[in-house]
Amino acid sequence: IDEKFDAIVVGAGMAGNAAALTMAKNGMKVLQLERGEYSGSKNVQGAILYADMLEKLIPDFREDAPLERNLVEQRFWMMDDHSHTGLHYRSDDFNEERPNRYTIIRAQFDKWFSQKVREAGATVLCETTVTELVRDTSGGVVGVRTDRRDGEIHADVVVLAEGVNGLLGARAGLRERPNPAHVALAVKEMHFLPRETIEARFNLKGDEGAVIEAAGTITRGMTGMAFVYTNKECISLGIGCLIADFESAAETPYGLLERFKRHTSVAPLIEGSEVKEYSAHLIPEGGYKAIPQLYGKGWVVVGDAAQFNNAIHREGSNLAMTSGRIAAEAILKLRSQKRPMTAENLALYRRMLNESFVMKDLKKYKDMPALMHTQSQNFFLTYPQLFSKAMQGFLRIDGTPKVEKEKLALKSFVTARSRRGLFSDAFRFVRAWR
Ligand code: FAD
Repeated sequence: IDEKFDAIVVGAGMAGNAAALTMAKNGMKVLQLERGEYSGSKNVQGAILYADMLEKLIPDFREDAPLERNLVEQRFWMMDDHSHTGLHYRSDDFNEERPNRYTIIRAQFDKWFSQKVREAGATVLCETTVTELVRDTSGGVVGVRTDRRDGEIHADVVVLAEGVNGLLGARAGLRERPNPAHVALAVKEMHFLPRETIEARFNLKGDEGAVIEAAGTITRGMTGMAFVYTNKECISLGIGCLIADFESAAETPYGLLERFKRHTSVAPLIEGSEVKEYSAHLIPEGGYKAIPQLYGKGWVVVGDAAQFNNAIHREGSNLAMTSGRIAAEAILKLRSQKRPMTAENLALYRRMLNESFVMKDLKKYKDMPALMHTQSQNFFLTYPQLFSKAMQGFLRIDGTPKVEKEKLALKSFVTARSRRGLFSDAFRFVRAWR
């Protein structure tokens, strides 16, 4: 390609599509490059779509987007090996005209999203891997090299939306490779069942959906979570833990998933299903403190590549879409003011992000990833076991006076963690949550 573009977007996931769409529909000449066979072919997500962030990009998306179920129920489970303690929230308020959260299947959804990017006027080239950034003598980014013949292409600005690995940016020295304590490895399966079976098992009507997020002994003391999401005719089910924890444990992601599926609370939900897909992917979980440099001369980084993921609330794609849109809006603003894409000017992107929920939420939980990682044995093993034992004591009616039961429950917590340990865990948790 000989021509020069206003912007090149590397990657056609949620962040890249949001950026490319926003710039193209506002008249910029945009080239988007994706290494996969099509947008979505490399993407793995549970997956919950947060409507508000997509509505800001495509207001009428509900008309033709491939949406699975409208979420009316959320369950949080704290699990030990034989039981779970649950907090369920279900509300008919979620059965609204413009539902707030949906389940989606990323491969289908990203294809649809990519079509919108094309319709907005961007040139989208799939099966094209960006191998290198082209730099000028001052180190500024002026384009990209791809694995295609004569594959050097120039642009005023390059939007790095290459996902969690961020190999391209790391290779160019724009940031470090993600630290293993900041990245989770998740595995996922799709279990197919007739839709009536899914609806009966999860107490759903029509296109209503439910999700389960679970933590506890299922990750064997490692920092991680599992999930079960209902789609129309299949259930997405997966589990993920920090890579640093896998490195020092004798567990494999697949082993954890098998055990999760066999758990007495999970097995009946997927009984008789046909597994048609198995996939593995990384999730950035380092939070605010792991965010790399976000801009420089001729480049910005968005989405998972910038570690924009809220592990506490299990949100990623909404942060990706929002950061992609905000980066595009910052670029559009600079263009309208005829200001060049220098590092100083592109700092506008960071300032705009700071004002958004993306940075505000990540900042709120800035100490949580380190706390969860360093205290994983307590939070993901000891407490779930103690909690389950206490619930069992509370619910089992065996003639033991309640006062004695309470004393026994308290004693088991103190024996396992000591009064000082309990106080310190509670204090650090509350402080990290604030
Ligand atoms: P990606 O979606 O990963 O897209 C990056 C794209 O760049 C890919 O298509 C890739 O092929 C392409 N690419 C990479 N390198 C190159 C290159 N050199 N040249 C060309 N193309 C390249 N988030 C939620 O909001 N809700 C959920 O329920 C949820 N569940 C999840 C479950 C799992 C198992 C996982 C792994 C993630 C989940 N997430 C969820 C997180 C969410 O998927 C990510 O936050 C989101 O996909 C990030 O979007 P992105 O565009 O930054 O990256």
